[in-house]
Amino acid sequence: MGNDGGSIPDRRDLVKTKAKAEQADKANQTRARWFFCALSKRPLQEPIVSCALGKLYNKDAILEYLLDKSTYGDGERICGHIRSLKDVKTLNLTPNPAPASGSTTAERNDKARFICPLSLKEMSGSQPFVYIWTCGCVFSQAGLKTMGKSKEKEEQDGETSELDVCPQCAAKYTLKDDVLFLNPSPVEEEKMQEAMERRRQLEPVKTKKTKKRKNSEDDGEVAKKKKTTAPPPASSTNPSIAAASRAVISSLAMEEVKRKANMSDAVKSLYGDGTQKRTETFMTRGTFTRYA
Ligand SMILES: [Zn+2]
Repeated sequence: MGNDGGSIPDRRDLVKTKAKAEQADKANQTRARWFFCALSKRPLQEPIVSCALGKLYNKDAILEYLLDKSTYGDGERICGHIRSLKDVKTLNLTPNPAPASGSTTAERNDKARFICPLSLKEMSGSQPFVYIWTCGCVFSQAGLKTMGKSKEKEEQDGETSELDVCPQCAAKYTLKDDVLFLNPSPVEEEKMQEAMERRRQLEPVKTKKTKKRKNSEDDGEVAKKKKTTAPPPASSTNPSIAAASRAVISSLAMEEVKRKANMSDAVKSLYGDGTQKRTETFMTRGTFTRYA
C-alpha cells in the first residue's frame, strides 16, 4: 500500500472511493460525468454551470479556476476552453421530487438529483439531456423534441432562423445553435468542439467590424459637418464659380502660410538663433547705443 519506501502511492491507493473506479466500468464513468463536477470532482452542487462542450461544473470551481488556473492540476486540459464566465452558462435544473433513498451518502449520490421538467425522466446519464444556451434550462432531448416538433418543421420548411421559445421560461432561442448536449457522446462532442471553434473565429471579426463601422460612421459625421461648414457657395452657385472661389480661398491660405513663415523668420533674425551671434549683438549693441 505504499509509504514503506518501496512504492510510490498515488491518489487511487489512498482514496477509498477511487477503488471502485479501478474497475472503470462504464456505469462509474457515467456517474462521474453526471453527478460530479468535471473540474473539482466534487459532487455537483448548485449553482451548476455548463460550457460549450456540455460538461458539468460547480460554478465555484470554475470561479476558482478562472482566478488561478493552477488551482486544479489538470484544469487546462478539462476546461482550457473556458476563458471567462461568459463561456459558461448557469443551468436552470429541475430537482428530482422523488426522495433520495438510502442512508449512506454514496447511495444518495447514486440517485439522480435532477429531472427533465417535460418528460420527468431522471438526469442520470441513461437519457441524453440538453440545455438551452440562451436561458440555461435543462431538458431531456426527447422531452424538448416533443415540445418543439411543430415549430421545428416550420423552421425547416421555411428555412428561416425563426426563434423557438423555451417551454419552461419562454426565452427565445434558435434550435440550430442554442441547444447544446450535456455530457455529449464523443461524436457529438467533436461537433460541439467544431461549432465552438467556428463561433470563436467569428468573435474577433465581429468586434472589429463593429469598431470599423463606428469609425466610418464617425468619419461620415465629420464629413457631413465639413460639408455643411465649408462649401455653402458651391451648393448655391454654379460649379465654375465655386471652383474659382475655392482657388481664391486656397491661394489666400497659401499667402497666409507664407506670411506667417516670413514673420517667424523676421522674428528669428531679430532675436537671433545662435548663441555666438547673440553675444556679438549684445556687445555691439551695447557700444552703439552708448555712443550713438
Ligand atoms: Zn428556459
